[in-house]
Amino acid sequence: MGSYQPTTTVAIVGGGPAGLAAAIALSELPFLSVTIYERNPEPREVGAGISLSYNAWKVLDLLDAADGVWGSSKADTLQRNGYNGDVVLKQPWPENAKEDKRGAIRARRTRLQSGLLAKIPEGVIEFNKKLVTVEDLGENGALLQFEDGSEAVADLVVAAEGIRSVVRRTLYPDLRIHFTGNTAWRTLIPRSSLAHLPDISRGTSWWYGKGGHAYLSGVDDPSKLKPGEEELFELSVRSYHEPEIPGRTVSWGIPATNERVQSRFLEYDQRVQNAIAAVPEGNWREFANYAGPGPEKITGWDKVVLIGDASHPLHGAFGSGAAFGMEDGWTLARAIELTYNRDPSNFLRSALQIFEEIRLPYYQGMYRYLAEQREKLQTLEADNRSFDDILKARFQMFGIGQKGNLDWIYKHNIGQVWEDYLQGRKEVNA
Ligand SMILES: Cc1cc2nc3c(=O)[nH]c(=O)nc-3n(C[C@H](O)[C@H](O)[C@H](O)COP(=O)(O)OP(=O)(O)OC[C@H]3O[C@@H](n4cnc5c(N)ncnc54)[C@H](O)[C@@H]3O)c2cc1C
Repeated sequence: MGSYQPTTTVAIVGGGPAGLAAAIALSELPFLSVTIYERNPEPREVGAGISLSYNAWKVLDLLDAADGVWGSSKADTLQRNGYNGDVVLKQPWPENAKEDKRGAIRARRTRLQSGLLAKIPEGVIEFNKKLVTVEDLGENGALLQFEDGSEAVADLVVAAEGIRSVVRRTLYPDLRIHFTGNTAWRTLIPRSSLAHLPDISRGTSWWYGKGGHAYLSGVDDPSKLKPGEEELFELSVRSYHEPEIPGRTVSWGIPATNERVQSRFLEYDQRVQNAIAAVPEGNWREFANYAGPGPEKITGWDKVVLIGDASHPLHGAFGSGAAFGMEDGWTLARAIELTYNRDPSNFLRSALQIFEEIRLPYYQGMYRYLAEQREKLQTLEADNRSFDDILKARFQMFGIGQKGNLDWIYKHNIGQVWEDYLQGRKEVNA
């Protein structure tokens, strides 16, 4: 590797938020030829809603992909005791819109996906390409083999195929993921079908129990819907202590019966139970959460880089994984652009080093933070502290109602991070 080529080929594996963002940013570099290999037969997004905050807006702006992305404002979010509905904490507007007037929103996942897809140049995505193996060819790049028998060779492999990354397993086989016991069920239904439950259907609310929670939120801004388009509302409920289902290899988006979901929430406030009961049979989708240890490296073979969930299997902790993946994609492009301008005959290896220098400590910090918070929570539970104390500790864990302690996640500005990196280099070289 390293010999000058007029066009460097880039294979992005996976067309989720990370892969799409990487494709947008890398396709702007004229010396790269970019292809996304996606296993699905067409663009598909199985999740219901997605939370987007300041960090997501910043990177969407840099990708010029924010225009089509909109949803429901999370103004006046209520944190409730799930058993009696008492409001434990209220997060008022405009707290979440101080730095960016678009604020924190909950959006249909398909909107984020189409916002990104709209910026992907024609012909960049190949569907029905499920990667099965990847092999290092030394100076000649990497060989990708797909389930349909086809192959591709690329100078750079960007692994963006999510938590069950084939590329990560190949590079770092000891880094295994495991079932966390935490399982989510999610669906979108017309808001009108919850009109009889105003405490549920107005605004955003969390209803916490000891072994789970319900998260209820709009995903649409009614003023932006097309005439006749139904306003949708998301129900996303979780149980923290589910048994493992042996042999499960697909863990996201599996159909679940109403009975299965309802049975986990029998002790909850009647309003939560009624909301769950309002979901038509066949609508629920199950998401079993898997996680793995924090990464020690996110590049390999001098030609492979892991981005998004492929690099940091975090089981959706922080609820910001899409933004993390998009930040990865944009940062990778900046690092490549910088090193190419310095030496077009040998730039990939140093670009990957820069990427790792910027992104790896960020992910490692997340794992450290989660481990510390988990320990605090376990101590409280072992002390038999009251449910309200445990709830407050959980709020702290995710910065809910705390000023500033998770700004490094939700107010992360990847453009500024890059500027700071360039400034630091100038100072070192001065
Ligand atoms: C219950 C739940 C709630 C969450 N809530 C939020 C939230 O509110 N906000 C937020 O930002 N994040 C949230 N997340 C996290 C977020 O969904 C992920 O972090 C994000 O989707 C990661 O993006 P990605 O592109 O890295 O991977 P993915 O979204 O997993 O995309 C991977 C892509 O690769 C494709 N693929 C997989 N294997 C192969 C293969 N072998 N060959 C080719 N293609 C392949 C897949 O089809 C898919 O298109 C949540 C996660 C969960 C589970």
